[in-house]
Amino acid sequence: MPPSDPASRGDGRAPDRIGPFRRSARTIAGGAGDRASGEVDDPAAPGSPDAAVSPERGDEAVDLADDIRGVGIMYGEVIRTRVLTPHLMRVVLGGDGLAGFAAPQHADAYVNCFFLPAAARYGVPFEDAAVRELPREQRPYPRRITVRAWDESRRELTLDIAVHGDEGYAGRWAVAARPGDRLQMRGPAGGYRPDPDADSYLFVGDESALPAIAVCAESVPAGRPVQVVAEVHDGHDEIALDCPGELQVTWVHRSGVADPEHLLADVVAAMTLPAGVVSAFVHGEAAATRAVRRVLLADRLVDADDLSCSPYWRSGHDDEQWRAVKGAWVREVAAETFAAPAS
Ligand SMILES: Cc1cc2nc3c(=O)[nH]c(=O)nc-3n(C[C@H](O)[C@H](O)[C@H](O)COP(=O)(O)OP(=O)(O)OC[C@H]3O[C@@H](n4cnc5c(N)ncnc54)[C@H](O)[C@@H]3O)c2cc1C
Repeated sequence: MPPSDPASRGDGRAPDRIGPFRRSARTIAGGAGDRASGEVDDPAAPGSPDAAVSPERGDEAVDLADDIRGVGIMYGEVIRTRVLTPHLMRVVLGGDGLAGFAAPQHADAYVNCFFLPAAARYGVPFEDAAVRELPREQRPYPRRITVRAWDESRRELTLDIAVHGDEGYAGRWAVAARPGDRLQMRGPAGGYRPDPDADSYLFVGDESALPAIAVCAESVPAGRPVQVVAEVHDGHDEIALDCPGELQVTWVHRSGVADPEHLLADVVAAMTLPAGVVSAFVHGEAAATRAVRRVLLADRLVDADDLSCSPYWRSGHDDEQWRAVKGAWVREVAAETFAAPAS
């Protein structure tokens, strides 16, 4: 069992998921490290590690310190990379630095990766204490990346990382990664896996969520209906998904669309979902996930308890900027209420 959700508690302590998703909490028998998102992601929830964070502590003050405090150093060495699509890069890590890696318990398990800025005068592995007090421009930048696959026997960790131009750390690192390069990380942690008792599944997201969606699709019971709605740049960015269920994929292209915020929501609104319990996973760009959530809950297409909804990133914000406001944003969205649809 992984330690108590270290990665999710670590990077800025912003809540991850928009409540009240609880179904994994009920269906997954787990220990402290297997906590599903609903209860622990509200920073104000009693007993939540986030409850201890005082509001005046800036994200910048807590992100790195909390990310790397008190956990053994873990890092991978790049074994190979592969261009999956023009906007998605696969990086496979291995080596002795992954000896302590715990098998992920969730389909959306992620690791918190530490990308070193150009100004860093140290390499991987690094000690917490050695970097914690450095000026911001020299400290690592934490980024959460989904565990696309973990092969225990080969000790190989696969990450699929979105490539989005010349900005940021994760995407640029993935493009430039070469065998032998090292990446330090913490985790894994996560909160969702497809409810085995659901009648059908709905997985929605963009490139950042495709790795988790791919794991979700692989994890459903055989023969069960699965609908995936995935937003990518254009047709060159579509990937093959393996699924033992009855899989139907709708690709949505944002290329040439001035305001892609409602692309996914519009497709979901036009869909017919099978009757019964729908286990839904809606992760990706913040405004887009919010729009999909509105459709699903306002039209009563999915029960809120069965909906895992998480804003992985925010257009116009880098991850530091996003984590600084994410907690308030998640609480605002979670407080949205929807009138029952007219019958
Ligand atoms: C639990 C979790 C799991 C995640 N799993 C994955 C994963 O498996 N693969 C993955 O690629 N991402 C994943 N993400 C999202 C990823 O952490 C963010 O997209 C992160 O901001 C990328 O960091 P960066 O250093 O590349 O860019 P940043 O420095 O954070 O941002 C630089 C600029 O790029 C923009 N930007 C950031 N991400 C994207 C994007 N995906 N597409 C277009 N523009 C973007 C920002 O808005 C900003 O303008 C996950 C996030 C969470 C919370």
